[in-house]
Amino acid sequence: MRKKTLAAFIAAIILSLALSIPGFAGALSDFQAAQAQAAALTAQIQQVQVLAQTDPAQAVQLQALQAQLLQVQQLIASLQPAALQELQQQQAAQQAAAQKAAQQAAQQAAAQQAAAQQAAQKAAALQAAALKQQQTAAVQQRSMPAATQSTGGMVWLSATGSKYHSFNNCSGMNAAKARQVTLQQALSEGYQKCKNCW
Ligand SMILES: [Zn+2]
Repeated sequence: MRKKTLAAFIAAIILSLALSIPGFAGALSDFQAAQAQAAALTAQIQQVQVLAQTDPAQAVQLQALQAQLLQVQQLIASLQPAALQELQQQQAAQQAAAQKAAQQAAQQAAAQQAAAQQAAQKAAALQAAALKQQQTAAVQQRSMPAATQSTGGMVWLSATGSKYHSFNNCSGMNAAKARQVTLQQALSEGYQKCKNCW
């Protein structure tokens, strides 16, 4: 028990020396360490106080611990203003960081909204283009030759030649070898209107 107390006492002195070196650590951490040290010393004193009633050596130890506690309490008092200042600075820094994070989040949200708006505009433009294409196709269909409609859109092609005909034996072509296709197909294959039968 006594050996343990002595070891703690030595540790307390070493800590006290470390804390007394300026700039060893921040004022706030020094302050917190000194507070912890004071709490440890107080607990030790309570233990030794009981033993000191019967053991003179423990009475000497008690006095040393009490002197040590006084020193630590003085250290706490001297560190308090700087520690408070540091605490306030830390809180201010935390507040600033939180503010900055909120700002960044707001900017990100705005950017996302802008992107969504752009996407919506693009979709609307695509839809408009599709509608226009449909209208153009409808106009083209309306402007097809009347003859196409009257023959159901089908024409005759001879085995040879570059014209399309309205019947399969026009101009002496071989009716057996003629084939019937749609006007659209004939046009797409490059056939031209026969002037004799249309
Ligand atoms: Zn013809």
